[in-house]
Amino acid sequence: MKIIMLGAPGAGKGTQAKKIAAKYEIPHISTGDIFRANIKNGTELGKKAKTYMDQGLLVPDELVVDLVVDRVNQDDCTKGYVLDGFPRTIPQAEALDKALESMDQKMDYAIDINVPDENIVNRMSGRRACVDCGATYHIVHAPTKEEGICDNCGGELILRDDDKPETVQKRLAVYHEQTQPLIDYYTEKGILKTVDGTVDLEDVFKAITGILGE
Ligand SMILES: [Zn+2]
Repeated sequence: MKIIMLGAPGAGKGTQAKKIAAKYEIPHISTGDIFRANIKNGTELGKKAKTYMDQGLLVPDELVVDLVVDRVNQDDCTKGYVLDGFPRTIPQAEALDKALESMDQKMDYAIDINVPDENIVNRMSGRRACVDCGATYHIVHAPTKEEGICDNCGGELILRDDDKPETVQKRLAVYHEQTQPLIDYYTEKGILKTVDGTVDLEDVFKAITGILGE
């Protein structure tokens, strides 16, 4: 079972990808983890990626695809895998399909966790982080015992710049421009499945297992 997770930043796709990986016993593959592993192990691909990253440049699509293809060819991926954070753009999706085709493989599902922008902005603006220990909370979903005070260490809680509405709006704009065309792409391929991401995360997961099967 080969799965791609789609959804805006803050829609909860990482959380659902982990739950899918655990239930179906397939690896959860994120590009960040692949980069780190290859660089740490000093592989040829890792060395190449590092030369771009050291210069503060984006790793080119071809190299990202090579890294992903190398990862999905490893032994633990024979039953399938769930890709999280890749592909992000149409050229990446096309390159991935081409590479899979040459291995006689194809993706089975692209799961889109659909959450309206305003819900995401609201969700993020409710996050709070401790300035001292870094613990994170949510004023509605994971409140502290005492408002504004960290349960863990008594430190002060703040709204991080990353979670501020204006920052979130910017990231959502980039997402809509680059990643949303993937929704049309996978619809045309006949593998897109959309789930409502505004409900409780266990209910989102139930909708996903309803699609993937027990
Ligand atoms: Zn703290």
